[in-house]
Amino acid sequence: MAEPLDVLVEPTDALEVARCLIELYRDQGPRTHKAKARFKFMVESWGREKLTEYLEEKLGKKLESFKLRPRGHGEHLGVNRQKQEGKSYVTVPILGGILSNASMLRLAELAERYGRPEVRFTCFQNLILLDIEDRELSQLKKELRSLGFDVEGYPHSWTTIACAANFCPKGLENTKKRTLEIIKQLESRFGERLRSIDLSIATSGCVSGCARHVLAGIGLQGVAAAKGGRFTPGYNLYLGGGLAYTPSFGRAVAVAIHADQAKECVENILSAYFEHRNEGESLRDFCGRHSVDQLSSMALGKFG
Ligand code: SF4
Repeated sequence: MAEPLDVLVEPTDALEVARCLIELYRDQGPRTHKAKARFKFMVESWGREKLTEYLEEKLGKKLESFKLRPRGHGEHLGVNRQKQEGKSYVTVPILGGILSNASMLRLAELAERYGRPEVRFTCFQNLILLDIEDRELSQLKKELRSLGFDVEGYPHSWTTIACAANFCPKGLENTKKRTLEIIKQLESRFGERLRSIDLSIATSGCVSGCARHVLAGIGLQGVAAAKGGRFTPGYNLYLGGGLAYTPSFGRAVAVAIHADQAKECVENILSAYFEHRNEGESLRDFCGRHSVDQLSSMALGKFG
């Protein structure tokens, strides 16, 4: 897990700071094992204090201390005000990162017609349209809805991602299709209750973790699962990961579940959460309050 150095770097110093860090690693980084010859291992063995001290020495000046911790998942859902009077930016939810070329072209047209002729992509696989005038917002929302993008939809529409396993030789199955299947099941079972919870789901097709499954509230990682003496696509289930004030990786609570059981396990977890959560408790805190064994029982529908 990366850690902040808690120092302020002015934009004019950014390049110099990056250069100094790279040179520190070049000159003093670990070289004994090829697998350990990584910047992250140097940071881990030095710690934040030593790294800051060496960085400041190389820069030839002290850096001002500055603490800023991200809140929540950091994604800006739906319509958000810009600092320019009368303008907003709209984060369009691309559930599971699935976007056809026809939709891409239509979104590009909407960006040109209603705002700035550019789009921005987010690390949750969503897309941002900028400089939308207040008077155009409702028409834009209508057009987006007609394309299947609801900017007033369930919050998890913005925070559900899946890797590109359908195009990747390492993927054991189509993670995007599987993710949509899970979401469909959750929405049909829990409906409006999903509006009030902070739910992030990430599905990676293999251990490389391109969908960052260990940083999601509910993460799935593709593995081979045994079935009837044969190997079929399956998933490891991770719960309770996230960033914000106390970043943590999700814990593996079930391994090698069959791919077609994934939606049932996720549904079981949410069902246990709705039934046993404390007042105001987030899914992440709920997972943190229970042991791996308890969460495993919940996922398999054997809890309580
Ligand atoms: S997580 Fe694995 S299967 Fe998915 S895109 Fe990355 S490397 Fe490919």
